[in-house]
Amino acid sequence: SVKRLADIRLGFFDSAMSSAVAERLTLERSIKAALKAGQFELFFQPQVRLEDFRLVGAEALIRWRHPELGIIPPDKFIPVAEETGLIVPLGTWVLQSACRHLRHWSEIGLGGLRMGVNISSRQFREADLADLVAEAITETGIDPAHLDLELTESMLMADGEGTLKILRALARLGVTLSIDDFGTGYSSLAYLKRFPVNTVKIDRAFVRDLDQDEDGRVIANAIISLAHSLSMKTIAEGVESEAQAAMLARHGCDEIQGYLIERPLAADDFTAFVARYGADGGRGPVPPREGE
Ligand code: C2E
Ligand code: MG
Ligand code: MG
Ligand code: MG
Repeated sequence: SVKRLADIRLGFFDSAMSSAVAERLTLERSIKAALKAGQFELFFQPQVRLEDFRLVGAEALIRWRHPELGIIPPDKFIPVAEETGLIVPLGTWVLQSACRHLRHWSEIGLGGLRMGVNISSRQFREADLADLVAEAITETGIDPAHLDLELTESMLMADGEGTLKILRALARLGVTLSIDDFGTGYSSLAYLKRFPVNTVKIDRAFVRDLDQDEDGRVIANAIISLAHSLSMKTIAEGVESEAQAAMLARHGCDEIQGYLIERPLAADDFTAFVARYGADGGRGPVPPREGE
């Protein structure tokens, strides 16, 4: 089938017939070509304040719109892009594209929304990240306060002083910083207080456990209280049920993101969502006012 052939060409299948090296090489070439051909696209997943379910922002999540395979999720190509270094040009494209979307949002009256952008560890270490971010901000004229960079624990733990230097340079630009997938790495919040980080994103694994057992609740509660005691905000990822949202609200979690609200949406679908969501009586006023 066409699908199978395309899978083989792209190396999206596991088989002893094809070595991992050959697969990676094929995928590497395909990613390069796709970047040139403009096949990457940002999707947006809404983030709402738990207090009143008001829309406050969205996370930008990359997708590869492949002409034959359709939409390819990031797990399928980000790891190879990381290994090969292609994540650097890809990450630069993500940053520029995110800022252009932010600019567009402000032009259509959604200027109060914040956008979260994922930064990969290689991009953090190798690219001159602060310069790239500064350029993207200047080129698009966006308010840097609306740009939130999502970093991971492992990135922050790697090398103390070098890391701190990059984080400070980013913070000076006026962007905010989040720690993504919190709790899956080896860092402790006590250690993280050294960094100018604004927000902790509670990993989906802990949110899932909220429904399951007492341990899940204890862990989520501990992350939220510690984050707050260090003056950090919390966003819970992967919230799928009302019950999870209610428990997170009880523990004082600030914001949620997940299928309960909406899946990641293509740009046009996202703006349509914003209009629809604002019209929903139970959900609080949208779009947010500038400056809030
Ligand atoms: P992440 O940054 O932790 O993003 C959250 C992931 O959880 C997204 O997967 C999102 O679609 C998924 N998700 C959100 N709500 C729910 C839910 O209620 N239930 C479930 N089951 N899943 C939910 P996605 O879009 O496939 O992205 C996967 C990962 O790929 C991201 O994890 C991030 O680490 C990476 N990624 C995505 N876009 C970019 C990018 O532009 N640059 C870089 N470097 N990495 C990216
Ligand atoms: Mg993220
Ligand atoms: Mg995450
Ligand atoms: Mg994740």
